[in-house]
Amino acid sequence: AGLPYIVGNWKMNGTRAMLNEVRAIDRAAGRFPRVQVAIAPPATLIYRTRDAAEIIGVGGQDCHVQESGAFTGDISAPMLKDAGADFTIVGHSERRTLHGESDGDVQAKADAAIAAGLGVILCVGESEAQRDAGEAESVVAAQVAASCPQGEQAPEKFSVAYEPIWAIGTGRVPSVEDVAAMHSAIRAKLVELYGDSGTGVRILYGGSVKAENAAELLSVPEVGGALVGGASLSAESFLSIVGAAA
Ligand code: 13P
Repeated sequence: AGLPYIVGNWKMNGTRAMLNEVRAIDRAAGRFPRVQVAIAPPATLIYRTRDAAEIIGVGGQDCHVQESGAFTGDISAPMLKDAGADFTIVGHSERRTLHGESDGDVQAKADAAIAAGLGVILCVGESEAQRDAGEAESVVAAQVAASCPQGEQAPEKFSVAYEPIWAIGTGRVPSVEDVAAMHSAIRAKLVELYGDSGTGVRILYGGSVKAENAAELLSVPEVGGALVGGASLSAESFLSIVGAAA
């Protein structure tokens, strides 16, 4: 369902010098009309990224649950939208772990983003200890159930990203069998939550996606794209992942 969706999450990386990478990615994305490409730069670069790019999507990495108010340092979903974002990531494990975000917090953020007219990429994933204990699928299914946005969702505006925490930035990736099993467990949960429209929600894989492993990961059933961290920071490596999805 839908085109493969390849999204770069720049995390806390990037100044205006990185707009050259945006331009290169945007130019090349025109050669891959069968792939949907997006970048989530730091919030400081959203406006400039939107300005520098014509084809690719632009997203935030988080949003506050409120539209405005006394929340120093936070950024609301309508502000992301106003700056030119098309979507936002919510529930990344770095937010869940380093900022103590619960499933309920993540759900409220997803709801706020959708209310502001943004698409959402909602991240879930187990820790290494949870996988070793044989709990990976139950942990992730519970995260999906408790953090996905409420109500009917348009599949083109809502994606789930499965990111095993132990695979982020480590160079380690789960086996294709484990990715397939997890993505099918997530699919089952999405259908339970959303009925028929849950079948169209794309489920991205994230965690050490590189040019070398992208084609294999993207060929796994129910893998509808990739959420790419480190390898999205240069146009060259990101575009080889985009090419692998074409
Ligand atoms: P890496 O691709 O650097 O492992 O990061 C994955 C990630 O967290 C994307 O959101």
